[in-house]
Amino acid sequence: MREQFPFFKAHPDLVYLDTAATSQKPQALLDSLQNYYINDNANVHRGLYKLAYDTTEAYEGVRQQVADFLHAQSAEEIIFTRGTTDSLNLVASAFGPHAVPAGGRIVVSGAEHHSNFIPWQQLAKRQQATFTVTPVHPDGKVDVSALLAAITPGTNLVAIAQVTNVAGDTLPVAEIANKAHDVGAIVVVDGAQAVAHMAVDVQALGADFYAFSGHKIYGPTGIGALYGRADLLAKMPPIQFGGEMISEVRDQESTWADGPIKYEAGTPHIAGVIGMGAALNWFQKNVDAAALQTEHELTSQLRTALTAIPDLTVYGNDDSLATVSFNLTGIHPHDVATFLDEQQIAVRAGHHCAQPLMARLGVPATVRASFGVYNNQDDVTKLVEAVQAARRYFH
Ligand code: PLP
Repeated sequence: MREQFPFFKAHPDLVYLDTAATSQKPQALLDSLQNYYINDNANVHRGLYKLAYDTTEAYEGVRQQVADFLHAQSAEEIIFTRGTTDSLNLVASAFGPHAVPAGGRIVVSGAEHHSNFIPWQQLAKRQQATFTVTPVHPDGKVDVSALLAAITPGTNLVAIAQVTNVAGDTLPVAEIANKAHDVGAIVVVDGAQAVAHMAVDVQALGADFYAFSGHKIYGPTGIGALYGRADLLAKMPPIQFGGEMISEVRDQESTWADGPIKYEAGTPHIAGVIGMGAALNWFQKNVDAAALQTEHELTSQLRTALTAIPDLTVYGNDDSLATVSFNLTGIHPHDVATFLDEQQIAVRAGHHCAQPLMARLGVPATVRASFGVYNNQDDVTKLVEAVQAARRYFH
């Protein structure tokens, strides 16, 4: 697996344990980007020459591919965006006022990434709605019973991660969506940390909207997608205006194109879309259940080994997906990460764009190691030895 990632040839001694921040890229993606710019570069949805037509076909082909990947009903339900953050902001700005009336109620978990938190907090302010943030357990996992209990009649929108980015906690999205639908609320799911580690079926989940980023699943940065259920998109107005998203423009009035391109004003990130398609192709051919199981076993081994180190708190539990967050008592996570960096180990330390969660855990930050399909046993061993050395060094 590692052979397919040129990054590891450039950095043969680096232990890369920061895939939750961004994944490294397989050669198949790099080839696709180069091929696009050398052979296929043309704008989409406008040129009448063959090359422009073929590029438009390829671009729209990726829309179908993403729809299949997420098990959406149709490609018309897939909007290309800059990534998860952009997708969630689009729903909040364009559909939010429709979903949440003045005085309504929004429910989010206390473990959300800022991208799935602030857009709803700000929407609540605009709509003078109640913004309910539900509790987490001391290990950083979402208290699912409390979340379900918070979804009461009068709730209009529930926003949750499928997998959280600090504790690697997988939420029972289908159960939460059922409860939300029972009270007439819509469910927005942040799939940023899920797509690379588990199969996703938006229909089985009952997600009304689902967001993800290409760069978290071995694809390029600056590209991602938003799934929106067709009947909801029918009611969602565009919020960006310009080229290619229109049907007709007159001096005083304009009308919009049908389908997802009405949310894709201007020249889109064509290379990004093509690259995301290549990355998804690569993923589906190369990352089978066994590869995901290996990733899961490495995560478990790391948890077990870290748990045995004195003065160390590990967040999440054995089910945590591809992510292990921890703190060494009395040592700032930034110091731990700097120490690890000196040993050529790349982990993330910080609040992980989840300050409401940090506040609930009573810590300013954590150290987070996260896995991709290129990690191996050696990476786990090196990290555990280095954490033990950090503890000895700082204590
Ligand atoms: N949501 C979660 C759970 C994440 O982990 C991230 C990125 O770390 C995001 C949203 C934001 O993704 P992006 O920065 O690609 O928009």
